[in-house]
Amino acid sequence: MMNILSALPRRPRLFNDESLASYIYRLAIANSFETTISLYRLANLTENTVFTRTNHSQNFNKSLRPLCILSGKSETQLSSTIYNDDIPEYVLPIRKTKICPKCFADNPYGRKDWDILLNTICPVHQCLLLDHCPECKILISWYRKSMDKCRCGFNFCRAITPTVNKEETIFSVIVCDKYHPSLFQNQLLPGFFYTSSLSIIIDFIIFLIGQHINHSFGNKNLWGKGSLRGIRNSIIHTHLMELCDILKSLPHGIWEWTCSINMNLYYDKQRISDFHYRFFPYDISHFINDKGKIDINNIERFIYKMLIEGDRFSPITYT
Ligand SMILES: [Zn+2]
Ligand SMILES: [Zn+2]
Repeated sequence: MMNILSALPRRPRLFNDESLASYIYRLAIANSFETTISLYRLANLTENTVFTRTNHSQNFNKSLRPLCILSGKSETQLSSTIYNDDIPEYVLPIRKTKICPKCFADNPYGRKDWDILLNTICPVHQCLLLDHCPECKILISWYRKSMDKCRCGFNFCRAITPTVNKEETIFSVIVCDKYHPSLFQNQLLPGFFYTSSLSIIIDFIIFLIGQHINHSFGNKNLWGKGSLRGIRNSIIHTHLMELCDILKSLPHGIWEWTCSINMNLYYDKQRISDFHYRFFPYDISHFINDKGKIDINNIERFIYKMLIEGDRFSPITYT
């Protein structure tokens, strides 16, 4: 027999910058659900739909309708928890989350912007976001006993995270488009980052980080679609800052950087079939020369083409 859903007795207010996982967590706690999973089941949701797939607007209507009934919220209200299509799924985490301890001390709920993997800092408090418990070192997830405490009992509001200078907030400001880049009088990065569409910018940043990682760690590290999810926030931040230095010193920065790439490190004979992931999210064909080999010059040309043409250049992406 089909269950007829009705509104839950307690329906906490939804904050306008709250993530879907955070709201479901608070709704479950308010209504004394044993675990968040039981509420997911009741709302016919899975972890994947909560963290990534329904976070894209095209799936919203059919996936979140039961939650609208349970929470007494309208589709318009719940749609504020959803990322638009400018945020590709591969920059969203599954299960994991991040916290700004200072924002959390003001009001403990998960902000939607924190979950974007390329957003490494809190622009309000200019500090690195926290992705693990400082006490027991476990990654912060939505499977915890209370909103502000880790399973080990540590109160996240007490955590101290490294502060960053204004320059270090640059990528987060671009990715979280509500912090408009014009806030920053000195535009440190090439114009591309201020004029192109967000999805094009994110794809390009992901590609550059991938090359940076391939280049730094060689065949020990396989770059691909899910790679960003396995990297700690502080490491993503370091990679972004290194990229920022390269991009700030155009054109020499890119030239020196691509010249220093050792292509042999990209090849791993054991995993040659995975080779094309190295250029994620772009198709490997962009980088192959007429002799059928990966060409450093093609990587460099590609980067310039992207920076100069922006939205006018639509490269084939990996499928
Ligand atoms: Zn904050
Ligand atoms: Zn802990």
